[in-house]
Amino acid sequence: MNECFPGEEKRRYRRSYGVFPCPNCGRTYLRKDSLQRHTLWECGKDPQFQCPFCPQKCKRKSHHIRHMQRQHKDMLDLMNNYVKKEVTAE
Ligand SMILES: [Zn+2]
Ligand SMILES: [Zn+2]
Repeated sequence: MNECFPGEEKRRYRRSYGVFPCPNCGRTYLRKDSLQRHTLWECGKDPQFQCPFCPQKCKRKSHHIRHMQRQHKDMLDLMNNYVKKEVTAE
């Protein structure tokens, strides 16, 4: 039975478990939309926004700011207070 459509079987297998490599950096993704998101938002995008409080890196500034506001609100408040004190001291 299967021998009648060996090509069909192979094609279906590839489509279901396809690996989509990025043409720019070679990173591979299991889903095409993941690769598209990568090429659109991640690949070759510089600079990376490194969180000063943890190893988190963000490709987009809005993500970076949102991350810090969510994860490090205390630290941000501390820094803001510190800056304010410095400014008023002078
Ligand atoms: Zn890439
Ligand atoms: Zn962080």
